[in-house]
Amino acid sequence: MTLELEAKAQTLREIALEVGACTRCELYKHALKGVPGEGDPNADVLLIGEAPGYHENLQGRPFVGAAGQFLEALLGSVGLTRKEVFIANVIKHRPPENRDPLPEEVAACVPYLERQIEAIDPKVIVTLGRFSMAYFFPGEKISRIHGVPRRHGNRLILPMYHPAAALHQGSLRRTVEEDFLRLPQALAEARALAASPVAPAAPAAKPAAPPKQLTLF
Ligand code: URA
Repeated sequence: MTLELEAKAQTLREIALEVGACTRCELYKHALKGVPGEGDPNADVLLIGEAPGYHENLQGRPFVGAAGQFLEALLGSVGLTRKEVFIANVIKHRPPENRDPLPEEVAACVPYLERQIEAIDPKVIVTLGRFSMAYFFPGEKISRIHGVPRRHGNRLILPMYHPAAALHQGSLRRTVEEDFLRLPQALAEARALAASPVAPAAPAAKPAAPPKQLTLF
């Protein structure tokens, strides 16, 4: 393992330990286990869901219930396994009865996600559902922007409906499957972007002075 990779893995382990002991909001009081996230610390693709549900709370791992099975099938449809990506959530402790997280819970928890993004430094982030989409694109509607990658710095963000929404609403299933098929292209574009980042606009450079004529004598 290179030093850089070991540093990433170490940072992610530290975050996981902090999540396990977190009391920044009330959610830990109702939850069994913190669910920091898991996967390849060096992944090019980071998937961000909303919050742990029933099974995740029992196991301390993200997306291990029905939505997780669907997510694994979606990853498989583009030739990926969950070991090759990183999977996290905006919220690291299960909200009671799977209710929507409160704004103050998101505010308390999101620094963990920010540190994970910084450590992993993925090329593409797939947001699963409204809450992770809203972190990058506040005020946007998922029905308007799903399936279309958007630039965010040198990364691409691919907003998608939450896999659980597709399980509950049959008509969304096809949409989610189709949206997911955009991931390989987004990844190829993001890799190209990272290889040749567009420099910030700089003042027009002065034309270089003409080279001095070299004399032979
Ligand atoms: N739904 C989520 O948003 N995250 C999980 O980890 C599981 C289900």
